[in-house]
Amino acid sequence: MNQSDPPSGPSDAAGDNPFFQEWTGPFGAPPFGRIAPAHFPPAFDRAFAAHDAEVAAIAADTAAPGFDNTIVALELSGRLLGRVTDVFRALASAHTNPALLEIERDIAPRRARHWDGILHNGRLFGRIDALYREREHHALTAEQQRVLERYHLDFKRAGAALAAPAKARLAAINERLASLGTTFSQNVLADEQAYTLVLESEEDLAGLPDYVRAAARAAAQERGHEHGHVITLSRSSVEPFLQFSARRDLREKAFRAWIARGEGGGATDNRAIIAEMVALRAERSALLGYETFAHYRLDDAMAKTPAAVRGLLDRVWAPARARALADRDELAALAQQQGGNFEFAAFDWRYYAEKLRKLKCDVDEASIKPYLQLNHMIEAAFYTAGKLFGLSFERRTDVPVWHPDVQVWDVHGADGSHRGLFFGDYFARASKRSGAWMTTLRDQEKLAGDIRPLVVNVMNFSKAPDGEATLLSFDDARTLFHEFGHALHGLLSDVTYPMISGTSVQTDFVELPSQLYEHWLERPEILRRFALHYRTGAAMPDDLMARLIAAGTFNQGFATVEYVASALVDLDLHLLADTQGFDVGAFEQTALTRIGMPAEIVMRHRPAHFAHVFSGGGYASAYYSYMWSEVLDADAFAAFEEAQDIFDPATAKRLHDHIYAAGGSRDPAALYDSFRGRLPTPDALLRKRGLLDETGVRS
Ligand SMILES: [Zn+2]
Repeated sequence: MNQSDPPSGPSDAAGDNPFFQEWTGPFGAPPFGRIAPAHFPPAFDRAFAAHDAEVAAIAADTAAPGFDNTIVALELSGRLLGRVTDVFRALASAHTNPALLEIERDIAPRRARHWDGILHNGRLFGRIDALYREREHHALTAEQQRVLERYHLDFKRAGAALAAPAKARLAAINERLASLGTTFSQNVLADEQAYTLVLESEEDLAGLPDYVRAAARAAAQERGHEHGHVITLSRSSVEPFLQFSARRDLREKAFRAWIARGEGGGATDNRAIIAEMVALRAERSALLGYETFAHYRLDDAMAKTPAAVRGLLDRVWAPARARALADRDELAALAQQQGGNFEFAAFDWRYYAEKLRKLKCDVDEASIKPYLQLNHMIEAAFYTAGKLFGLSFERRTDVPVWHPDVQVWDVHGADGSHRGLFFGDYFARASKRSGAWMTTLRDQEKLAGDIRPLVVNVMNFSKAPDGEATLLSFDDARTLFHEFGHALHGLLSDVTYPMISGTSVQTDFVELPSQLYEHWLERPEILRRFALHYRTGAAMPDDLMARLIAAGTFNQGFATVEYVASALVDLDLHLLADTQGFDVGAFEQTALTRIGMPAEIVMRHRPAHFAHVFSGGGYASAYYSYMWSEVLDADAFAAFEEAQDIFDPATAKRLHDHIYAAGGSRDPAALYDSFRGRLPTPDALLRKRGLLDETGVRS
């Protein structure tokens, strides 16, 4: 079945349902203007049924199992479901509403049940297993072998080889986990939507630079306040406030609300959900024959074992903590010097760090930000992709989008051919989940025709009022490059099978293309060209740029500690075999005490709003992935530095062929080795964070 040939079924009352029609608009993109929430329930119904029928036919095939009648048939099945799911996910995360939230609660457990029905289909697994055992006798290409291996592994990891009672229990657990994950993320969204810090008077705005005021005014207007300024719990709203607000009482108020998301008591409290999820994950892993969930999860990761993950995190933790404690003393001393007669607290850290950065590095956010216009940073990301991979980007205004702020570009390859579409959805709004992410509306493949990907980046930048340029912090710009690196992994994908397309790789490898891309932002070659003052158009002065780059390791103790603490708590949570009487609050306290968490730093994501780990669970026991990938990206960028050209064509070609275009076509370690000729050690990472020399930590 292909996308232009939806399954026939009983005639549908909703004859105008776009999911039952061919998408004939530009590039076959989803017709967002015509898609309403009411279209999803019948579309999901029909999609589940159609997929079930297709899979039943594959399982019932009386011919001997071959690659075509089993794997290719599976790869071609479920197209309607894929189409509905991709659009639904995009809307439910980037522009949701009460109707979509309700459908999401209904669909999440049904989707889990649907997939378990397939993964636990004994006849189907019998065919895959037989084919896998006989794989040497089928003349398969390397890519086909990899796809077959992945199918076999996915079925085994889902419990396909287990007895019926165990399968039934697994299915019940998965269904419940899907519901819990959905409720978890909806609770966080509800807490974020419910909170605003309204700044009424000039005194409330003390210390805030113009652009923070402008963003707070725009946030107020979006929420229907005619006057005043509003700080929200979106990172790009609350962090600048914490950096600049001279009002310690208001900083404390905003900070406490920010770190308490998901544990405010009442209907949106996530703590009981976490306890149940941790217990169910442990039970599921035991059914599948693993010691703990972490063992299960990491078995199919580049890291392989909890010990390997802990080894890396511990190695980074000690020097990072030492640095953070020294920084804390310096910040507390500065606060006292400036007349602060109080005990230095977590909500003071960003404020005094900003002041100290100004003193020590002669760099402050307010002097950098006017040079970082959103539109120019988007251009910078495009330009880098042009220099490295020959891509070019042409703005399109005829492609349907889900919100007027969304922009679309047609992406061309070096030979001028169409490579895909890139959708950029950059601004925070109440209907959007917090954070930043890449997703797709269609993946690259060559099985059902030459399918070009539709790739989406979603961010939460504070939007400037109408008619003014949106300015980014350097962190925001880094996030933009990060997500664009993921986007390139989707856009440059050049594989045949959907199973291994684009970002369908291990979680601890998937952050390599994204984090690696951040390196180019920090280079004079890029900043000189694109960091232009929003009023005068002047390039960022060389001395400011030099100070900005030199300040790259400033406050890295703090950043590393808040991240590694989250990763260690995530790991510890999923190393629990006995979850009787589990209390997440007590657990968090114990885990943090054990590692000696500085009292003035709070985890980057506390459990009650740790969406990576509990909304869907893509990063459960895998939040360490960013650091694992950072070991790779720090080493990977060094390949360009060694070539003394950050756009070195030969290095860029290897990077393209073995990383960005390769999807999951081979084992990640093999892919990296093909690019670099060896695997890395953590030294480059420690050096990049400025944590190597003074601590004596060496390989
Ligand atoms: Zn990422």
